[in-house]
Amino acid sequence: MPATPNSGPAEAGALAIDLAALAANWRFLAALCGRAECSAVIKADGYGIGLETAMRALLSAGCKTFFVANVAEGERARAISGEPTIYVLEGLAPGAAQRLAGASLRPALSSLAEIEEWAALGRMIGRSLEAALHFDTGMNRLGLSPHDAAAAAAIANGVSVTLVMSHFVCSQWPEHPHIARQIAEFDLVRAHFPGAPASLSNSSGIFLPSKPHHHLTRPGYALYGGNPQPAAKNPMRPVVRLEARILSVREVAAGGTVGYDATWTAARPSRIATIGVGYADGIPISASREGGAEAIVGGARCPFVGRVSMDFIGLDVTDAAPGAARRGAFAELLGETIGVDELAARSGTIGYEILTRLGRRFARRYAGD
Ligand SMILES: *Cc1c(COP(=O)(O)O)cnc(C)c1O
Repeated sequence: MPATPNSGPAEAGALAIDLAALAANWRFLAALCGRAECSAVIKADGYGIGLETAMRALLSAGCKTFFVANVAEGERARAISGEPTIYVLEGLAPGAAQRLAGASLRPALSSLAEIEEWAALGRMIGRSLEAALHFDTGMNRLGLSPHDAAAAAAIANGVSVTLVMSHFVCSQWPEHPHIARQIAEFDLVRAHFPGAPASLSNSSGIFLPSKPHHHLTRPGYALYGGNPQPAAKNPMRPVVRLEARILSVREVAAGGTVGYDATWTAARPSRIATIGVGYADGIPISASREGGAEAIVGGARCPFVGRVSMDFIGLDVTDAAPGAARRGAFAELLGETIGVDELAARSGTIGYEILTRLGRRFARRYAGD
């Protein structure tokens, strides 16, 4: 059962987070990974659902390795438990080495300079520090160049290399030519680090027919209910459900407009419900474009009309049951019917962006703990 967010008193909107679904998603992915270990990526405050709560649920599900974006997230994760392995994806930010070591965090080192700095700190404190080596096989974002693999191997003996990793550019499109190229490039890199565990696959990478799972996989998005294979039916359970309260319902005559800049004009006498969420809650303005987003009111799909405001959205509830579309009732923006991928597609963005922007103003309600 998805969590029921709408039991709260006065909030205009609520984000319900189903931790049982999160745990089930991790177990499902872990089973797909066979003998490879399945970690969990909990960066960006656990993709918006709450880093600490997500981590606790994943720990109980059996997850032992976590990835965060930066030191501050790493320290939050470490405060939850001293046990798990925690990697910091942004690597060794200038000035961060002491804090990383202090919280037993492992940076994903992404340049020769970072390797040297981490090795130097290890020498200073008298033991070689653990780290991942992150190679860039095509993203051109962060990571050592594969050309530097030999040089990295030569200086990396001052570091305890617990992982050699790279990251896919477009693993959600199984036919994309980048995939085979990156896998081949990664194999060349790995040859310089015999015996070191390797990791390449994010959520979508786990589903590739060639199963490039290596020793450790790094799913994020799919854990939170996102579809790792856009061309196929989503195998993941939804984790977030977003409901917004209807604040008022009004009749708008044909020819009347709704919202700022009068972007929508009623073609027929219409009933318009105003719900109490807007772009300040993470719903993109682009959700109100032509063919844009819909919400469920009393089982009926009701289109967004007019421009999304900071705190309000108009819904055309003309075709919803009158008893359902009333002041105080709830409209469902995300849940079993409309997933993050659909809201994203209808808004011209990706589900990752939707998820990570939701967390800020909503009351979060957790269930399934
Ligand atoms: C964000 C991230 C992941 C997780 O990717 P998803 O597509 O969310 O599964 C894995 N590895 C790296 C390096 C990342 O930055």
